[in-house]
Amino acid sequence: MTMTPSKYLVAIFGGAVSGSEAANQLAMRGIPSVVFDQNALPYGKIEDGLPKWHVKLRDKEEQRINEKLSHPLVTFVPMTKLGEDITFEQLKGMGFSAILLAIGAWKDRPLGLKDVDNYIGKGLIYQNPFIYWFNHKHEPGFDKEAYKIVDGIGIIGGGLASLDVAKVIMFDLVEKALKERGHQVDLFALDRSIARVLDDKGLTLEELGIEGCTLFYRRRIKDMPLYPGNPTTPEEIAKAEAVREKNPQ
Ligand SMILES: Cc1cc2nc3c(=O)[nH]c(=O)nc-3n(C[C@H](O)[C@H](O)[C@H](O)COP(=O)(O)OP(=O)(O)OC[C@H]3O[C@@H](n4cnc5c(N)ncnc54)[C@H](O)[C@@H]3O)c2cc1C
Repeated sequence: MTMTPSKYLVAIFGGAVSGSEAANQLAMRGIPSVVFDQNALPYGKIEDGLPKWHVKLRDKEEQRINEKLSHPLVTFVPMTKLGEDITFEQLKGMGFSAILLAIGAWKDRPLGLKDVDNYIGKGLIYQNPFIYWFNHKHEPGFDKEAYKIVDGIGIIGGGLASLDVAKVIMFDLVEKALKERGHQVDLFALDRSIARVLDDKGLTLEELGIEGCTLFYRRRIKDMPLYPGNPTTPEEIAKAEAVREKNPQ
């Protein structure tokens, strides 16, 4: 079977979930694309924003990205940052019929309080750089001292990202306190259940002297987006609210 060459060629910037899916949708319609990413690997938030204990989810999503970018109609070009390695002007002269930006949402929503951003780096931290640091701090050459996790941190927001931040903080505090008492514990055991890890060692947070972190949320616990899925019937909504009330942390 011979294929008619497409009259289109699309440039996509960002090769992660959105960029790879866009390339896949085009390829399914016989349209070739060139996917550029600023990094060597195209995984974006899956690698840098999803806390590293989500191993299964990360592997699954990375596999899906790999498959989509492996399509014969998709050319992946790593290490090419729009605005640095290639300018928009250069791009315009390269014969692309369309340019799609799939560069992610890396800017945290500002807190919106007057002058509050003067405190960035002086105790105020936004989530994106914090999780990026958490995921990469063990790598050689990375500044592992960039953030210092202390007891008694306040977290603003009640969404999934806030819960991940709370988990990072609690895992770190518990791991350090147990280490001081000669216990080694891994991140995956803590992710399964901090309470169970402590129970096994006959300890409590109070005995470890850990106050923990406080999550400030503008709505009710019932409104937290913790429940997986999209409840629609009254029974499902009631069940979702019960799950949220039971697992506010
Ligand atoms: C803490 C946290 C938990 C999450 N948990 C889940 C979850 O449990 N389940 C779920 O489904 N989703 C989850 N998400 C959301 C999910 O990870 C993101 O929605 C998704 O990965 C975003 O994909 P994206 O392709 O839009 O953007 P990104 O992943 O940000 O990809 C953008 C890509 O563009 C590249 N890029 C940026 N600028 C340029 C440039 N100038 N030139 C070239 N390339 C560029 C980047 O290198 C990157 O590869 C979570 C996110 C976070 C932060």
